[in-house]
Amino acid sequence: MRIDGACACGAIKIEGEVDPETAQVCHCTDCQTGTGSAFRVSIPVSGASFRMTGEPAIFVKTTAESGNPRAQAFCPTCGSPIYSTSPGQGVQRSYMVRVGILRQRDQLIPRRQNWFRSAQSWVAGLSAIPKNEKQARN
Ligand SMILES: [Zn+2]
Ligand SMILES: [Zn+2]
Repeated sequence: MRIDGACACGAIKIEGEVDPETAQVCHCTDCQTGTGSAFRVSIPVSGASFRMTGEPAIFVKTTAESGNPRAQAFCPTCGSPIYSTSPGQGVQRSYMVRVGILRQRDQLIPRRQNWFRSAQSWVAGLSAIPKNEKQARN
């Protein structure tokens, strides 16, 4: 299916083609730090279909667990995470695009959770935590 999206400020826009069955959650500690949240949701987009306008900032992070360097792309203005890929110039084989920036995010339901051993303990019981339909009055 076709996907498209933009960062929070609109400086970076992307589009491409995905298999919706490949959306996935990552609970690794790098993703927790890189999102400032409990986990990351991503979907692979082939380099052949990936299009982008705007210029992301790139931070190359060598993952402690796998030893593989990954180029983490984010908007230099608003900080939205955009994708990760292999480091290097030119078009890469695949881009792990961050589902939260996509217009179709409600249709991209994760089919797999990776690095679950470092998942935060409350994640599996999220539905049991009391909910507000809008912002809490703290
Ligand atoms: Zn932005
Ligand atoms: Zn991760």
